Order: sequence, then C-alpha cells, then structure tokens
Amino acid sequence: MPDRLVLLGSKGGPALRPGGPWPSSSLLEIGGRSIVVDCGLGVTRGLVDAGVSLKALDLIFITHLHSDHVLELGPLIHTAWTAGLARPVTVFGPPGVGHHWRRFCQSMEFDIEIRIVDEGRPDIRELVSVDEFGEGPVVEQRGLKVTALRVDHPPVTDCFALRFEHGAKSVVFSADTAFFPPLADFAEGADILVHEAMLEEGIERLVARTGNGARLREHLLASHSFAEEAGRIAGDAGVKRLVLNHLIPADDAEIREADWIDAVRKTWIGDLTIARDGLVVELA
Ligand SMILES: [Zn+2]
Ligand SMILES: [Zn+2]
Repeated sequence: MPDRLVLLGSKGGPALRPGGPWPSSSLLEIGGRSIVVDCGLGVTRGLVDAGVSLKALDLIFITHLHSDHVLELGPLIHTAWTAGLARPVTVFGPPGVGHHWRRFCQSMEFDIEIRIVDEGRPDIRELVSVDEFGEGPVVEQRGLKVTALRVDHPPVTDCFALRFEHGAKSVVFSADTAFFPPLADFAEGADILVHEAMLEEGIERLVARTGNGARLREHLLASHSFAEEAGRIAGDAGVKRLVLNHLIPADDAEIREADWIDAVRKTWIGDLTIARDGLVVELA
C-alpha cells in the first residue's frame, strides 16, 4: 500500500451549502497505518469513498474541539462498529475529547446496549481508548512518531498542529491557526505541510452572505491565516509540498483554484496543491 494523504473534507467552518465542499477531515496512510486527522461532518462518507474499510479504523487525531473538526467523531466510530469493527481504536485529542466521546456514547446508549445484546457485538466503549494530549510528544508506536504544537486559534487555547513521522517521511497539519511563525520550525523539512488558508478577497463576500458580519470578520482575522501567510510558513520550513486546506471561503462560485494559486505564489514557489474533497496526494 503506497503512502498517501487523502483530503476528505477541505472547507473551513461547519456550514454546508448546496454543491459545496465538506468540513475538515483527512486520511493519512503512512507506514501501514491508517490515520484519520479531524472528524468534521462527512468523514465517514469520505473514508468509504476513498476505499477504506471502516473495520480497519485504527488511529484518530482531533486537532481541537470546534465542530468542523469533531462533529462526526462519534458517528464515525459507531458506524465502523456496526460495520464489524472488532479491534481497538485510539482517539488522540485535546483535553475534553474524552468527555465528548463519553457523552456521545451516553446519547446512543439505547442503540449500543441493544446491539450488544441483540447482535452480539463487543462493547464499543471498551473498544475505544481516548488519549488526551498537550504540546510535545504524543505517541511513538511501531515506527510512527507523532508530535503536537500548540498554535494560535483564539478563543480556543487547546488547538494543536500535528507532525507525523515514519521512517524518512513526514507530514505536518497546521490545524486552525492565525499566522504562527513557530510552525515553520515545527514543520521543518516535512514532505507535506497541510496548512489552513483564507483568501482575502473572499472574506468580505463571505461575511456579507453569512450575516453577523463584524463579529465573523473579527474571528476570521484573529484566528486564521491568509494563503500568503501559509506560503511564508512553508518557505521558512523548507517543506517539499504545501497543501492549502480548510479553505475559507470554500464555496464561492467567484473564487477559483487559480485565485488561491495566485495568492500563495506571492510567497511560495515550491510544489503546491489546493485541496478539494477526495483529492489524493501521494507521499513519494
Ligand atoms: Zn476549522
Ligand atoms: Zn477551529
């Protein structure tokens, strides 16, 4: 199985619009491991469309507890369980992810209890272990090494960029963050940097369309990065490829891939991918 990154959901923010892309989730297949990074709405559908057997669910990482990154965590695991998942799954996430998972199981108690008795399934609550992490080393297991860096995503304080390494290969996810220079050191020399991005000219139209204008604009500017800034991080880090992801806006018909490319080319001349749902990036 060749190593690959699949961008399952590529938009920033939880809202859905007809014909538009879906919230944040990615699949990283590296060193024989299947790693899901973030579980925005649509992650289960995205995995199945990418040809992944849900029974093979293995490691799940959540960067932070905003709904566009965690809303489908429980439903993904539950659906994998009904698809025959019989091996342990580990969920790594910020403080609070255990609470989130336990409350999900509580909300599904009727269904879970009945399937254990009626269908002889293992107890889903015992199949899943939750590991809450902070900044620093997260896990080292069978050649896979994962490290976290706290990034700048106010008002959320527990939001973490993640670096995955296996052998000589490395992939870094920025998570949601304003321009954050320490990310360049953290991503140094990575094969792929998946960085969130906003497009300046699209923000005003997005704000006008959504209502609640001033507050939304304020949040976006304080907590997210422009495409040009993602390019600067990639350049300073000397990564091999930059993938722009968590795109804001992601479903504005007047904004095309070429606009994203123009913006990021002001600061980044290396290999570039603009994410869209289902896009596969091979890890050479
Ligand atoms: Zn987000
Ligand atoms: Zn967020």
